[in-house]
Amino acid sequence: ASAWSNVPQGPPDAILGITEAFKADSFKEKINLGVGAYRDDKGKPYVLPSVRAAEDKVVASRFDKEYAGITGVPAFTNAAAELAYGSDSPAIKDNRLVITQTISGTGALRIGGAFLQRFYPHAKKIYLPTPSWANHNAVFKDAGIEVEKYRYYNKDTIGLDFEGLVADIKAAPDNSIILLHACAHNPTGVDPTEDQWRQISDVMKQKGHFAFFDMAYQGFASGNADKDAFAPRHFVKEGHNIALCQSFAKNMGLYGERVGAFSLVCESAEEKKRVESQIKILIRPFYSNPPIHGARVASAIMNDPALNEQWLGEVKGMADRIIEMRALLRKNLEQLGSKHDWSHITSQIGMFAYTGLKPEQMDSLAKEHSVYATKDGRISVAGITSGNVQRLAESIFKVTG
Ligand code: PLP
Repeated sequence: ASAWSNVPQGPPDAILGITEAFKADSFKEKINLGVGAYRDDKGKPYVLPSVRAAEDKVVASRFDKEYAGITGVPAFTNAAAELAYGSDSPAIKDNRLVITQTISGTGALRIGGAFLQRFYPHAKKIYLPTPSWANHNAVFKDAGIEVEKYRYYNKDTIGLDFEGLVADIKAAPDNSIILLHACAHNPTGVDPTEDQWRQISDVMKQKGHFAFFDMAYQGFASGNADKDAFAPRHFVKEGHNIALCQSFAKNMGLYGERVGAFSLVCESAEEKKRVESQIKILIRPFYSNPPIHGARVASAIMNDPALNEQWLGEVKGMADRIIEMRALLRKNLEQLGSKHDWSHITSQIGMFAYTGLKPEQMDSLAKEHSVYATKDGRISVAGITSGNVQRLAESIFKVTG
């Protein structure tokens, strides 16, 4: 018998299934709101002009192709740290921040999970918000970390269940690991306010909890990279020695280049040295060292003041288009006379809108209107354009009555 005769058939990836159904639909005006990638107002993939310019610079430099060190391209990681923590961050100034380049945000989460599994001195269990990005569960399980949940989203208000969140964090045993989406929570688009973040930080400090931040959308949420980094920066200011995962997939549009970083704030420079040595020991057998091209491009942007400013403007442009499409979708629904309250479409933030539509309604959207998105009612606002928003609103209006 074949060595693999006992391998069971696994289920298809939920998002890829949507893309396949979309491709198979021959209707000309079909709409794909499944994928979490930015599209321009023509519905086309978008390469940022700052990225094109940086890439030209990188190619013209005729760099060699030698291996990077285990933790990647230092000019990239130094700039990534400043972008996330702020250039005046005490963690950077005191030389107590460990940072390594990673295979985008997913790789950062996986390295973080592996480090916790090996060294976290308390329960190796992470609390995820309900719901969370679907891959969190798999990443941490594969890293040997147990996964628990805390309340986050309130179906009835289509908003944050702040009381439930605080109650669950309080009820978790002391020194628990809590995963927090730094901004633009995926899939709900519902974020705590700055005041709520302060309260979360206080409760977590009282409990001795460990804050593990996933920041996949810095700049993409509000259009301002500093504003979007409020939560991790506030936690660090309050003395939390956090973990942070960064992705440059969305904010630089570098999806397939796989550019990211994982960092840990340590107690001292001495502790940093020890932790860094173990991060290297962890990464070496995983993939030896990360790819260099995307990191060089990101580095060329962040280390050139003019390009950096251009990039921040382009991030704002993407965020603004998304905010505008939210407003247009809501306006169109209201103009059609929909009796439902659609205010959450504009109060939510980031790439996704959590519409509150039920799985049956999402099914009808696909089957009767050729509008494709995940069953949980999440739509990628990046897939909305001024050309399709009206038909989208009409379709949603028809299935919601
Ligand atoms: N974390 C969250 C919440 C995300 O939504 C994503 C991407 O969709 C990621 C992490 C990781 O993305 P990537 O590995 O492409 O950087």
